[in-house]
Amino acid sequence: MIKPSPTFKALEHIRHELAQLKARGLQRSRRLLESPQGAHVRVDGRAVLSFCSNDYLGLASHHALISAAGAAAQTMGVGAGASHLITGHHAVHHALETRFAEFVGLPAALLFSTGYMANIGVVTALVGRGGEVFADRLNHASLNDAALLSRAKFTRYPHNDLAALETRLTASRASQKLVLADAVFSMDGDLAPLPDLLALCERYDAWLLVDDAHGFGVLGPGGRGALAHFGLASPRIVYMATLGKAAGVFGAVVAGEAEVIEWLLQKARTYIYTTATPPLLSATLLASLDLIEAGNGRRTHLQKLIVQLRAGLCIPNWQLMDSPTPIQPVLIGSNDAALAASQRLLERGILVPAIRPPTVPASSARLRISLSAAHTETDVAQLVDALNSIHADG
Ligand SMILES: *Cc1c(COP(=O)(O)O)cnc(C)c1O
Repeated sequence: MIKPSPTFKALEHIRHELAQLKARGLQRSRRLLESPQGAHVRVDGRAVLSFCSNDYLGLASHHALISAAGAAAQTMGVGAGASHLITGHHAVHHALETRFAEFVGLPAALLFSTGYMANIGVVTALVGRGGEVFADRLNHASLNDAALLSRAKFTRYPHNDLAALETRLTASRASQKLVLADAVFSMDGDLAPLPDLLALCERYDAWLLVDDAHGFGVLGPGGRGALAHFGLASPRIVYMATLGKAAGVFGAVVAGEAEVIEWLLQKARTYIYTTATPPLLSATLLASLDLIEAGNGRRTHLQKLIVQLRAGLCIPNWQLMDSPTPIQPVLIGSNDAALAASQRLLERGILVPAIRPPTVPASSARLRISLSAAHTETDVAQLVDALNSIHADG
């Protein structure tokens, strides 16, 4: 019988910190989704109009993808059973990598389980001690974590500030340099100036990792993503697209020079030391790439909804941020005010999340509206009316 000790300081500390989070309006909680993802969902027992998924093309519950997943489960089973380098690399994983590389016009591609793992794997494989990572301050958390884990020097620059980045690149004595950028910033919706970033990488002999989690499927001809949008190509670019957002399924793909992909296969620990994703997901993703490629109608509709939202909102005390993408944030400022606005929308049956620090900088709590091709103009009109009247009520 182990005698309980009278104090357990570490647990008391956690209790205290949890109480602090609650007191500061920073406690996060989860809602229960009780329907497939879509414009209209059931959440916590009630039907709501939702503006909070990253399912930008409305593919997450598309019938063709559901059929593809079901058929693949019948022929491939459900679990991969091993990592890619043991016996888990199914022919359909391979087919997806080949198809993806061809789709984005890059020499080769490698499938990762998630975007988080892809970023960790790529950064730690490309730079180490003696290297330096340069990162936009508003980059996704996974890129920051990757930089820290790489043991390279971690240097952040103000959002989209190319002059500041150049100053830091000039000052660097690092043996390997890597610039990290979200192509579309996930909480602001704006784009990184990728052509200028690439020019700096050329001038200062650096790699450029482009995280296109929110651009792939949405930007560029055929939804080929941010590189196609800007018409960029360079052996310096390592391109990462996630497949759980516009592609509607799950996973992430990294594409680039064949030797870079081979290097990742040898060195990226988040690729090597993990079970391969279920092959049925890759089969589903092949169907998803077809829908993305043929998805101009969806993208045109989405653009129309963006214009409709931006033209309709009249919210002078808040700030509709300058974004050309389906991520349309409304900057409110205080945590409590953002939470209150989100709550009042919910009372009207509309779900828009309040995003608070540390996901966004202090005092920049916001409503993050994300539009999807699954929304109708009526859905967006309902959101516009609700926001305008909540704003007018103060
Ligand atoms: C969502 C996201 C990721 C992580 O991708 P997952 O596949 O969800 O792990 C990485 N980078 C950015 C910018 C993201 O928005």
